[in-house]
Amino acid sequence: MEKVPFLRPKLVELADYAPLLAEMDRVRQYTNFGPLNTRFERRILDEWMGGEGAATTVCNATLGLMLAISEIKRPGRYAVMPSFTFAATPLAAQWCGLEPYFVDVDPQEWVLDPRKLRQALDHLGKDAAVVVPYATCGTHMDLRPYEDLMRSGVPVVVDAAPCFGTSLDGRQFGRGFSGAVVFSFHATKAFPVGEGGLVYSADQNLIRRMKLASNYWFDGGRESLGLGLNAKLSEIGAAVALATLDAFPASVDRRKQIYRTYTRLLDASGALDAGWALQCVRGEAAYQWLPLIAPDVPSRDRLLRIAAERNIELRRYFVPPCHEHPQFQDASRGDLSMTDRLGDTAISLPLWEDLTDEMIFRVVGAVAEAARAPASQQSASGTVSA
Ligand SMILES: *Cc1c(COP(=O)(O)O)cnc(C)c1O
Repeated sequence: MEKVPFLRPKLVELADYAPLLAEMDRVRQYTNFGPLNTRFERRILDEWMGGEGAATTVCNATLGLMLAISEIKRPGRYAVMPSFTFAATPLAAQWCGLEPYFVDVDPQEWVLDPRKLRQALDHLGKDAAVVVPYATCGTHMDLRPYEDLMRSGVPVVVDAAPCFGTSLDGRQFGRGFSGAVVFSFHATKAFPVGEGGLVYSADQNLIRRMKLASNYWFDGGRESLGLGLNAKLSEIGAAVALATLDAFPASVDRRKQIYRTYTRLLDASGALDAGWALQCVRGEAAYQWLPLIAPDVPSRDRLLRIAAERNIELRRYFVPPCHEHPQFQDASRGDLSMTDRLGDTAISLPLWEDLTDEMIFRVVGAVAEAARAPASQQSASGTVSA
């Protein structure tokens, strides 16, 4: 049977950005916020953020998170965040000299649980230097409570790595938020540049500081005025990014269409009545995979086995959750029962733009098969009713 790969990254092609590279050849500026980079940032603001706020590119989102945390944090010891995230979130905090403090996620949307976050912040008080929520798997998480936190003096950096293209009522996620919102343009994300990223904020001054910090904190001169590093996007990266912008509306539509096909088929498969569940996303996510939870560990294993037999590649994000990584296992934490449940039962299905309907049928077929009660249970219940 033909393999269904979990992911097949696909960037725009050379022909799409060759004219921009020719422009770069003529201008002979290759980095340091060149004309292509400036044009890209301008278009992001005008076309995706309604002209509101400011944005600065970075060469990847991990450095974007580090710079954002570094520029926005207040004195204190902890970066409060979920454990159900990619390792880059707690690593960025550690690079800023902070300790991750892990808080559980909610059972529906899998973002920081508001009640448990409140408890953690009450408990930590002034020791909470920054809060770093993750917009899990690309959901348009509700940022209003985080705007309140910002107003109360608790700085917020949103790990929105997979969220470029995520919208609610046509509004791009993050637009208008006064903390920092960090997007990734890694080859595996919905907006793929290869390596790259963007930090957005409604606060233009914050973005100005971040831009300086991403260039050694030089402000016109050659003296470092703060804790900077080099996180600039090259003009080659900006050329790919500009071409990606042109192709992006169609590719986001394609991802959203695949998501609808999946949910329709999963609904019809009976799996969602048998204890399997999808993440409840707000808005429309530009998904890079489709996250699902199994009712229990034996069901999860059944799906993994059936998928392997049918040559379908699945992955388990984020397993293990960060609090179980050797690098973070000593970090302080609150109750993480939902995170542990996700760690045990979450499975991600493939969702990339060239996935065919036939492949989606096969993937959902495997889930439906795994959702059928195993033979031993069927015969047992048969015996009882007989
Ligand atoms: C992809 C990702 C990152 C890292 O982005 P890079 O651009 O590869 O550095 C960080 N956090 C989350 C949640 C991600 O999914």
